[in-house]
Amino acid sequence: MQNKLGNPQNTIQIIQKYEFAFQKKFGQNFLIDTHVLDKIILAAGVTKDDCVLEIGPGIGTMTQYLAEAAGHVVAVEIDSNLIPILKETLADYDNVTVIHADILKTDINELTQKYNGGRPIKVVANLPYYITTPIIMGLFEGQVPIDNITVMVQKEVADRMQVGPGSKDYGALSLAVQYYAEPYIVANVPPNCFMPRPNVGSAVIRLTRHKNPPVSAQDPGLMFRLIRASFNQRRKTLQNGLNNSPEVPYTKEQIISAIESLGLSPSVRGEALNLEQFAALANYFTNIKE
Ligand code: SAM
Repeated sequence: MQNKLGNPQNTIQIIQKYEFAFQKKFGQNFLIDTHVLDKIILAAGVTKDDCVLEIGPGIGTMTQYLAEAAGHVVAVEIDSNLIPILKETLADYDNVTVIHADILKTDINELTQKYNGGRPIKVVANLPYYITTPIIMGLFEGQVPIDNITVMVQKEVADRMQVGPGSKDYGALSLAVQYYAEPYIVANVPPNCFMPRPNVGSAVIRLTRHKNPPVSAQDPGLMFRLIRASFNQRRKTLQNGLNNSPEVPYTKEQIISAIESLGLSPSVRGEALNLEQFAALANYFTNIKE
């Protein structure tokens, strides 16, 4: 691989050549550590049979690694200043398609159809941290056919995705991620692996899509409304959280009966419930006779 960008010297050279100015608003922290790059590719399990979507290729550092390992790489980058740079750094690869677009405004199902015949893709990225949650939830809720998502995120967010009840990090994101996927933290990554250094710690997390959800909620939309209502008012009891939410249309009596049907006290807090209990709660409401 010529001009391999995991090497900090090559990264600096390219940045100087194009007089590239880092844009904070795009969450631009480029990877400059070859060990971390190798670890990400390995954790994602990328093979020549795979079509990989990379979100935010930057100057193409991880894209080069992906192009070596994958069958095809589709890389979506928002910053127009990076497009000519990518043209140069990826010139040696004929299996990479760079798309200049905002990932949040991109129809990823359409990309999957176009580049992988609708078969499951892998998503691999050093994500722009300011939009981590909308990107991950968009992939899951948009029913994009996905094998796994292996991404660099803020350490605290990786922890939130992985924990269960009883942890201070437990919340709506934990439950949403765990409904769709099996999370596994691959590595913690310190700020000195990036240029410029971010002022938060980072972690690589792999989310392996469940073939079937681990719980059976008859109406998953209702379950997620209940979850949001429970965590919106963290210090309130579950009963008050549900009662005060405009998204939950049930009476106080119905809410108390639903909580008691799980064998729980009405004074329980929402953060004590696991995914299975939220699914049972939603199913209780779904089956209330009008
Ligand atoms: N992959 C590169 C690396 O690891 O060195 C860069 C990662 S950097 C953390 C995030 C990248 O996402 C930047 O290149 C940034 O311009 C891009 N980006 C930010 N917002 C985006 C968006 N809405 N859609 C697509 N790309 C975006």
